[in-house]
Amino acid sequence: MTYEELFTPSEIMGFLYCPRFIYYMRCLDIPQNEHKRFKVQKGREFHDYKTRTNKEYVRKKIECIKKDTNVFLHSKKLALKGKVDEVLYFRDGTMAPLDYKFAEYKGAIYSTYRLQALIYGALISETFERPVHKGYICYTRSKNYLAEISFTRRDWLLLDATLRDMRRIIDKNYYPKATKYKARCIDCCYKNICVEGREGAKSIEISGF
Ligand code: SF4
Repeated sequence: MTYEELFTPSEIMGFLYCPRFIYYMRCLDIPQNEHKRFKVQKGREFHDYKTRTNKEYVRKKIECIKKDTNVFLHSKKLALKGKVDEVLYFRDGTMAPLDYKFAEYKGAIYSTYRLQALIYGALISETFERPVHKGYICYTRSKNYLAEISFTRRDWLLLDATLRDMRRIIDKNYYPKATKYKARCIDCCYKNICVEGREGAKSIEISGF
């Protein structure tokens, strides 16, 4: 598997939004329009914000002993690649990802944020050969509120299953079932080519979060 073939967090989230995204992107080589796709994009302006944030703030708050920032990670074994905002090291030998969101905390963590943290956690664990049990989200529009996410065994299993499903679609050139949430089709960048007539094509069931 080449570096280009490794999955990004964005592709995985796209796949979970609708399994057909990965088919159009990787099997038919039709790029998506990032801006129209789905509403989990990080604020573009946020990178400027982040450079102004007190770099020691989070480290002090959760008592990690060290952190690396803007870390590019990839794993051929996991078939994943991505850039982690911060990689945190703890005294007990565990590690964790931290992701900044230009967003307000409204009492619950979006499943897409959880998934992103999980993907980064998997990359960190694999790369550094250390246990990763949790991840952090820093909500910069809520005075840097820091939310902790605990990863469960079920989370890891679902991530594995999702990556397998994505690989299967590409390797076998399978045309997957459409999302069951039809409202997602309204604003979809693939709606003009994703015709009902293709529903009869060979398709597979997928796992999912
Ligand atoms: S039009 Fe609907 S089914 Fe087709 S790719 Fe977009 S979201 Fe999926």
